[in-house]
Amino acid sequence: MNQETKRATAPSMEEVAQAVNRYEQRCGERFAPRAVLFDMDGVLFNSMPNHATSWVQTAQTFHLDMTPEEAYMHEGRTGADTINILMQRRYGRPATEAEIEQIYAEKCRLFNACPTAGKMEGADMVLARVKAAGRTICVVTGSGQQSLLERLQTGYPGYFAPERIVSSKDVKQGKPNPEPYLCALEKTGLKPHEAIVVENAPLGVTAGVAAGILTIAVNTGPLPDSALTSLGADLLFPSMTLLAGGIDAILSRGA
Ligand code: CA
Repeated sequence: MNQETKRATAPSMEEVAQAVNRYEQRCGERFAPRAVLFDMDGVLFNSMPNHATSWVQTAQTFHLDMTPEEAYMHEGRTGADTINILMQRRYGRPATEAEIEQIYAEKCRLFNACPTAGKMEGADMVLARVKAAGRTICVVTGSGQQSLLERLQTGYPGYFAPERIVSSKDVKQGKPNPEPYLCALEKTGLKPHEAIVVENAPLGVTAGVAAGILTIAVNTGPLPDSALTSLGADLLFPSMTLLAGGIDAILSRGA
């Protein structure tokens, strides 16, 4: 991926101010963030390389074409939906139930054989700043794995209360539908202009924007920034480390 398509620096104070103004015009309310809603894969954990590798290998096994970049574009989609898109393109028809089961089983087998994903660099610092600023912390993920809660608690002890975690078990429709983020607002008793979304994937940005929440894209993967900004992300940071340096200024915009 061409480096010129990705910014290397955090947004300036002026860019933050402009983004908040644009957001307030869009939603018709004064931005007053009381909570930060974090996506998990690609934001808190560096798990996307494992997902991309296992998707690409699976696609090769079943003679479906998929590039690593495409795996990142589909991040957050259900396995069945992703498989249907690949089958439709390759064979001009959706996958059968049996095919979905077989292909997704192989993807999961390869993913589970990958080394455990580490924490995303800088995420600790972002969480510490948000907590120090007295704001509520939530996680909103499409994952429904049993190990999810444990992984959050052991990786980031003291930040994620079980009642402030939205997983696939809490919603009927996953991202890009806004339901997961609306569910987080319901759990915290907040309105859209009282929260911030932090997302790394196109479908996640779409969900945050559709929920009416100021959405920060953190481009931790290989996609060009435009894959996130074209979907309405209000601000874009190149990394969680740079977001750690900028989050106080964003939170104080609504103080
Ligand atoms: Ca993600």
